[in-house]
Amino acid sequence: MRLIFLGPPGAGKGTQASRLVARHGIPQLSTGDMLRAAVAAQTPVGQKAKAVMDAGGLVSDEIVVGIVADRIEEEDARKGFILDGFPRTLAQAEALDRMLEEKGLKLDAVLELEVDQTQLVNRIIKRASEAKAAGEPVRKDDDPEIFKQRLEAYNRDTAVVAPYYRERGLLTAIDGMKSIDDVSAQIDSALDAVSAAS
Ligand code: AMP
Repeated sequence: MRLIFLGPPGAGKGTQASRLVARHGIPQLSTGDMLRAAVAAQTPVGQKAKAVMDAGGLVSDEIVVGIVADRIEEEDARKGFILDGFPRTLAQAEALDRMLEEKGLKLDAVLELEVDQTQLVNRIIKRASEAKAAGEPVRKDDDPEIFKQRLEAYNRDTAVVAPYYRERGLLTAIDGMKSIDDVSAQIDSALDAVSAAS
């Protein structure tokens, strides 16, 4: 199964994607995680991406598309994958279409986690304080001011991605304001419907 998770930062994409990994045995491809790993390893990509990420902006399409193109070639992604945090622009969505077409592959579903953006800032403050309490490092871009920049980038560049998939009949909206279990249940029934139709 090849899936995409859409939704603003803090909507719970990562949490829900990791639940699907366990259920479907396919990897979660988070461009945010891949970029953070590149920054930590100080690779050339990481060096280019760091300042943009720290400011809450979007890394260039060229860099991100390159990372995804390499990652989906790996063995564990053959059976399928869950894209988390990609595509974030129309150019990325179009590049993904081309990549899949070249391989003769299709997307099965695009799930959009719909959330109340005014509540997201509170959610992110909670995520940062939980990470701190657990002795885990707090993401620099989870600072409330930087988080607002990330939300702005989402509304400016990424909000157009959901309509792109809606027009192609691939989009299912999920109410992301419910409990984690409730959101998972909505996702499971959406995916059951996709499997039944194919
Ligand atoms: P995330 O963990 O998905 O919230 O991503 C953290 C940061 O990584 C974002 O704020 C961007 O700076 C960068 N990033 C992750 N995915 C992408 C993408 N698909 N396009 C551009 N920048 C990205």
